[in-house]
Amino acid sequence: MKITLLTGKTFDLQNAFDFPLTVKSSLKIKRLNLRIDHKTRSAVLSMPKWCNKKTAFDFVSAHLSWIEEKLASLPALKNFEDGQKLCLFGKPLTICHRPDFGAPQRVGDTLFVGGQKAFLHRRIKDYIKREAKKEFLSRSQLLAQKLGCTLKGVSIKDTKSRWGSCSSRQHINYSWRIALAPTETIDYLMAHETAHLKNPNHSKVFWETVQSLCTDFTKGKTWLETNANQLYEYR
Ligand SMILES: [Zn+2]
Repeated sequence: MKITLLTGKTFDLQNAFDFPLTVKSSLKIKRLNLRIDHKTRSAVLSMPKWCNKKTAFDFVSAHLSWIEEKLASLPALKNFEDGQKLCLFGKPLTICHRPDFGAPQRVGDTLFVGGQKAFLHRRIKDYIKREAKKEFLSRSQLLAQKLGCTLKGVSIKDTKSRWGSCSSRQHINYSWRIALAPTETIDYLMAHETAHLKNPNHSKVFWETVQSLCTDFTKGKTWLETNANQLYEYR
């Protein structure tokens, strides 16, 4: 692992190493700490406000082999492939590539996809995004109706920071990858984001609202917190 030698007073800590490094600095952070972010596939350095860059640089440098080992052990990024079995909106789906076939079409448990092999991944990803937009919009609208709230729209994003978010303009964003999560996790996330239409915070009342929409949300929430990183294996 190479290190860029530092000269002068100013240098960019984020770009000083030949691996992706995210630097977070705030008054709340009491000590230097390193972790690996599976979503962004980067090392994350938490740095107290008082800490100078040279000290931080030395700290990261002292942990190079640990960082290298952790980044190397991340699962390889995957493409969707012919014959692959997926779970889409909680239902099994097998990808079947037929070059002469037209636009992706689901027939029973099979998703037929046409075109060149090189574009297979892209076409399937676009298909999942289109289906997610329809599915998540109609489901969120139903939940919003139950709460007597207005939902202005749903967008499907490729975010890596959050699985979903609800804006003060009554608009919900979902990550397209959540379409590949188990049913109970999708149920939980829909309930969570829609409940924000009524309660923008995470108060006790908010969680009661989530429960009113999704009675047993613990399993879905736990999966999201412990296993959802695997959804980032898809490019
Ligand atoms: Zn929330």
